[in-house]
Amino acid sequence: MATTKYDLIVIGSGPVGYVAAIRGSQLGMKVGVVERAELGGICLNWGCIPTKALLKSANVFEYIQHASDYGIEIKDASINFKGMITRSRGVADAMSKGIQFLFKKNKIDHISGFGTLKPGKKVSIDDQGKVTEYTADHIILATGARSKELPSMPIDGKKIIGYREAMVMKDRPKKMVVVGSGAIGVEFAYFYNTLGTDITIVEFLPNIVPVEDEEVSKQLARSFKKAGMSIMTSSEVTKVETKGKGCKVTVKSNKGEEVIDCDIVLSAVGVTTNLEGIGLEEVGVATDKGKVMVDDFYKTNIAGVYAIGDIVHGPALAHVASAEGITCVEKIAGKNPEPIDYNNIPGCTYCSPEIASVGYTEKAAKEAGYDIRVGKFPFSASGKAKAAGAADGFVKVIFDAKYGEWLGAHMIGANFTEMIAEVVAARKLETTGHEIIKSIHPHPTMSEAVMEASAAAYDEVIHL
Ligand SMILES: Cc1cc2nc3c(=O)[nH]c(=O)nc-3n(C[C@H](O)[C@H](O)[C@H](O)COP(=O)(O)OP(=O)(O)OC[C@H]3O[C@@H](n4cnc5c(N)ncnc54)[C@H](O)[C@@H]3O)c2cc1C
Repeated sequence: MATTKYDLIVIGSGPVGYVAAIRGSQLGMKVGVVERAELGGICLNWGCIPTKALLKSANVFEYIQHASDYGIEIKDASINFKGMITRSRGVADAMSKGIQFLFKKNKIDHISGFGTLKPGKKVSIDDQGKVTEYTADHIILATGARSKELPSMPIDGKKIIGYREAMVMKDRPKKMVVVGSGAIGVEFAYFYNTLGTDITIVEFLPNIVPVEDEEVSKQLARSFKKAGMSIMTSSEVTKVETKGKGCKVTVKSNKGEEVIDCDIVLSAVGVTTNLEGIGLEEVGVATDKGKVMVDDFYKTNIAGVYAIGDIVHGPALAHVASAEGITCVEKIAGKNPEPIDYNNIPGCTYCSPEIASVGYTEKAAKEAGYDIRVGKFPFSASGKAKAAGAADGFVKVIFDAKYGEWLGAHMIGANFTEMIAEVVAARKLETTGHEIIKSIHPHPTMSEAVMEASAAAYDEVIHL
């Protein structure tokens, strides 16, 4: 059995794993990354990137359908569904190959196989039955997550599917029930609805995209209904019958029970962590509610063992994962990184209209006891949004009335996922509302809406 010694071994090559590995190599460590599947993890292969490629295809089709609004007549545009899937897979493959290149550039060893933590700072790797063992001073667990399954609708991969199957379907379904309306659910709902699939969204909570500010949730519900989707909130799927042709989905709400016929049920009820078989019990790594317990710098209770990304508490997002990877490795290397501020994490949803938000919602700010100033600026008053034919949506900002601290920002409309970083940087720099009002935004841009919303919070708005 080969035994190689590393400074750092990372199990899992998702955004947290590969970023930690690259940062470790930059800091002079000899690094190995164990990966059982494609390099780049869910994010590059089955999450962030391939979904955004599919959404782009839907956007282009939507544009073409509305081309006459822009003075362009297009006849007979039609969908090549297979072409969309192939493009999305091509984008994912290219990104995954990019990680191979980065590993080579940074002299990181890619160790293929399933990694298991062993006592004594060891990792055993099973590559199709061939077992090797490596030791490392530091071992980072970064094994990510997979689709969560509800007992009422176990994923069979054919009629009841998770996000992976939804990304590579052979044919576009005629009718789909999307269960769960977080980012993954509404992105697929938008994609399939735009291509002509009849969509029903079922959400257990009273609003879709339930983590967002209520006004944003309501605006998205309006936009989706206008686009022809059916939305059932405060509703629960209690049974899915898959015998025979199609599926029969039983949905319970306060109005009683209803059975919906469809071809496909997409289960988008969240993710569950990959903690099975990776040696946590044998080594004694503490977990809580399906997550590995860590301190502010991602150390577990076992010396030399760390955990980052989707398998630790905090939002399951790629940019959070990457930031955790960098913080963890810098601390290991003896640097003095700041702990991550989990109150300043942007969240983006890439359906159309896009959603972007950071910080407190209005409700959460009030519940936290803040006296607040709220400003809102609608895209209907933005020259650039009007010119772009994207006048639906708004920016809502929340400031602390006493000190002007920027407590939160909530945006729904075109291009906002590209604009939220302004708010994140401003909050990091402890910027106040007045400093944003006095920061000159270029005209005409949709970003002016952020400045105008801030001005609205202080009764200084110009274009309303
Ligand atoms: C459909 C979808 C869309 C998403 N869109 C976005 C988005 O737009 N923006 C965003 O920020 N986030 C998005 N996410 C979430 C994002 O993908 C995750 O938060 C991110 O991938 C987590 O990174 P990670 O490195 O912790 O885990 P993962 O990306 O899950 O990577 C874990 C890796 O570990 C490997 N692995 C697991 N166990 C072992 C083992 N024992 N041995 C060896 N290898 C192992 C896996 O094969 C995998 O490659 C999306 C997720 C999904 C499902």
